[in-house]
Amino acid sequence: MVKIDVLSSGSSGNAILIKTKKSLVLIDNGLSYKKFKELISMVNLEVGKINYLLITHEHDDHIKGVPLFLKNNPIPTFISRNVAEYLKLKNGSHGLINFVEAEKNYDLGDFEFTPFALPHDASETFGYLIKSEGIKIGYAADLGTAGENTVSKLKGSNCLMVEFNHDLDMLKNSFYPEPIKLRIASKLGHLSNDQGKKLLSKCISSETLAVYLMHLSKETNTKEFALLSAFEMIFDKKIFVEATNHIFPSRPFVF
Ligand SMILES: [Zn+2]
Ligand SMILES: [Zn+2]
Repeated sequence: MVKIDVLSSGSSGNAILIKTKKSLVLIDNGLSYKKFKELISMVNLEVGKINYLLITHEHDDHIKGVPLFLKNNPIPTFISRNVAEYLKLKNGSHGLINFVEAEKNYDLGDFEFTPFALPHDASETFGYLIKSEGIKIGYAADLGTAGENTVSKLKGSNCLMVEFNHDLDMLKNSFYPEPIKLRIASKLGHLSNDQGKKLLSKCISSETLAVYLMHLSKETNTKEFALLSAFEMIFDKKIFVEATNHIFPSRPFVF
């Protein structure tokens, strides 16, 4: 069994759980410890059961909760050298901090993962391809452009977790200052609904069983817009599609 629980996605904080037969893996933790514990109990899991932590990049919405989380739960953590330096986490400290590199394969027994580089305005940003029990999960959120490498990593995944950050018109008409608008829409910012849709169109296959729309902006997107975009491209009615929530668990998917 492989189960996916998105506890929270977006600029208010990110935390994604993947449960395999023997492991519970957390991707990012941008939540307060109190909120994290509250959300994980809502999906009937426990903080103490998490075995591994994977980090995507150093933006606050992804790592804000990491120091306190690790203090309370010192578990093996997989992180790029750049982001670890930013967080002042040392390789081998407590035997737990492991530097990982893009394009390398890491085998942890009942699951394996491959980080891959995403174009985003952090020191280094990873997407992750995770495999367990023959199930492939492709995660790519917080990216400004979806290039060939992202497509080749995600293609063939049974679950696609892809950024649908903003509606371009809502962004243009938003109260954000001009430099912020430019940053979000830039090649190192975030994917719009249209860009997310294009990425999906290149990655969806007969293997696709589930699609999560990730990192929706509270100010410049709505679930309806994101889902409408996605459904312009997802024709198979059997595919599970979920627009993820801010600070609230999304519908789980179980393989
Ligand atoms: Zn983010
Ligand atoms: Zn980011």
